[in-house]
Amino acid sequence: MDPRIIRVGLGSDTHRLVSGRPFLLGGVALPSDRGEWGHSDGDVLTHAVIDALLGAAGLSDIGALFPPSEAAWKDADSLALLKSAFGLVQEAGWRLINLDCVVTCERPKILPYRDRIRLSLAQVLGVSSAAVFVKGKTCEGLGAVGTGQAVEALAVCLLEKGGLG
Ligand code: MG
Repeated sequence: MDPRIIRVGLGSDTHRLVSGRPFLLGGVALPSDRGEWGHSDGDVLTHAVIDALLGAAGLSDIGALFPPSEAAWKDADSLALLKSAFGLVQEAGWRLINLDCVVTCERPKILPYRDRIRLSLAQVLGVSSAAVFVKGKTCEGLGAVGTGQAVEALAVCLLEKGGLG
């Protein structure tokens, strides 16, 4: 039997908030007069999740895998990028145990959309939404996030391989 290995991964991301863009978290569009600026669709949470998964597997990071200098990723669907990145993680033999995330912004409130965001990410990752959690925080008016100029996301994941049969 292969020995069971577990690895933790950490991802973070920050995006500027501007008018005329959707506010996307985990593929869910939240009602907001501003959204994330970005070369891709700007989905800050999904980008943090991608980096957590790739980092835990020791494979790559989002900037190396999907360089913003490449026209192919202009307005890219971040959930498609997540699916592609997680495919590499799975090909390397890793299974996702759980994912935990924090999104920090002054508005909109995350809580009313939490379960939709969890389900959206869980569906792409092929796990139960019980294995994906998302918390919303504010920055009490401090810094770029606190003044509504930016949104930040943090994600931590646990992967395992081996230990079967
Ligand atoms: Mg990003």
